Amino acid sequence: MNLIEKSKKYLWLPFTQMKDYDENPLIIDSGKGIKVKDINGKEYYDAFSSVWLNVHGHRKQELDEAVREQLNKIAHSTLLGMTNVPATELAEKLVKIAPDSLSRVFYSDSGAEAVEIAVKMAYQYWQNIGATNKQKFISVKNGYHGDTIGAVSVGAIDIFHKVYGPLMFEGFKTTVPNVYRHPTEDPEKSRDEALETLETLLKEHHEEIAGLTIESMIQGAGGMIVMPEGYLSGVRELCTKYNVLMIIDEVATGFGRTGKMFACEHEDVEPDLMAAGKGITGGYLPVAITYTTENIYEAFYDDYTKLKTFFHGHSYTGNQLGCVAALANLKLFEKDHIVQQVTQKSECLHELFGEISSLPHIGDIRQLGFMCGIELVYDKATKEPFPFESRVAYKASLKMRELGLLTRPTGDVVVFMPPLASTEEDLKEMVQIMKQAIVSITSGEALQIAAANS
Ligand SMILES: *Cc1c(COP(=O)(O)O)cnc(C)c1O
Repeated sequence: MNLIEKSKKYLWLPFTQMKDYDENPLIIDSGKGIKVKDINGKEYYDAFSSVWLNVHGHRKQELDEAVREQLNKIAHSTLLGMTNVPATELAEKLVKIAPDSLSRVFYSDSGAEAVEIAVKMAYQYWQNIGATNKQKFISVKNGYHGDTIGAVSVGAIDIFHKVYGPLMFEGFKTTVPNVYRHPTEDPEKSRDEALETLETLLKEHHEEIAGLTIESMIQGAGGMIVMPEGYLSGVRELCTKYNVLMIIDEVATGFGRTGKMFACEHEDVEPDLMAAGKGITGGYLPVAITYTTENIYEAFYDDYTKLKTFFHGHSYTGNQLGCVAALANLKLFEKDHIVQQVTQKSECLHELFGEISSLPHIGDIRQLGFMCGIELVYDKATKEPFPFESRVAYKASLKMRELGLLTRPTGDVVVFMPPLASTEEDLKEMVQIMKQAIVSITSGEALQIAAANS
């Protein structure tokens, strides 16, 4: 049996309709810089950073060496009741780069866990301080926080989450401003309406609400929806006013992705809890973190017999190999001025998008730093989408694959999340390939739809 046959016979892939995989299998064998190579030797731009992770490219010397060196000492020891050297060093570094409100780091292995931990901490915080009726959460419509049941409960993307309805804990959902889909396309109006909706909800229910979960500045999996200026800081003000903990999800946006170390810095927002993951190890190893304030930490600190302990942990939490990769990653952020570079190169990217935005089936291009989405529509004037069955963005991504570029859409939105190390030349080539695929697929689909309608 060859590898492709084995993959079809034994694997079940995450977030994948396996019928799609069987029709278009792909096995990656190696990577170097911002490209990966499959088992047949075909090269692809890693235009989605291996699903939103990669920072400096693959086989980055400093990261490779850090992991190799750690292997000479120890690969893993537990964080339950004790710690290790890199996990401790890393915690200090992470607190130094975080918003000022955050002073403690709790490790886990994935973004979903980091969010779930934040939710459990927020819940138990109020229990520990005796405000026992604060048990519910507000989350934002169209939000995505990962795939474990707790993270799904505070998520709100029907196509992924609806089937699990009866398994989820109940909460409140508030609207998110979507400027492109707002009747006036006025960012301020759409922001103010969303904040009013939230305030109405808080006014009525704040006494039973423990926390609010929200992605930072941009909804990722929900379609790269950039929040209008003043929205996130408006949410912060309302959380403070109504005594609700603000849980910010920086899993996708953290570590330079949007042109700030953390996206909440765009509006100087200081959360009570914050989840991060993805870029933390430069895309090398599974490490995630939940940041908290000292105030929340102290509510759990007491004699054991008071049972205020946070009874939560995972086997590989604080893994040394992951932590040394993260330390080497943060060192490179400093040395190569990654955050400033993203800000600069984003302008070039913005110009490149300007050159394709007039294409007939590109409805909207949204960008915050290196986090971008291109929304494909059937009718540009009315914003009418392509029919669900036509799967245009998926088909476009297959075309891109053929042309030597990997990405993965969310709905009708082509996602572009290149590694932060991509040069302007790389960005140019990648946008060119995406353009070619989008034109070819959307015009083909539109012709078919028109033919069927006539
Ligand atoms: C990817 C993502 C998660 C989940 O992270 P995993 O590591 O895949 O569990 C959570 N929140 C946001 C905003 C994400 O983009």
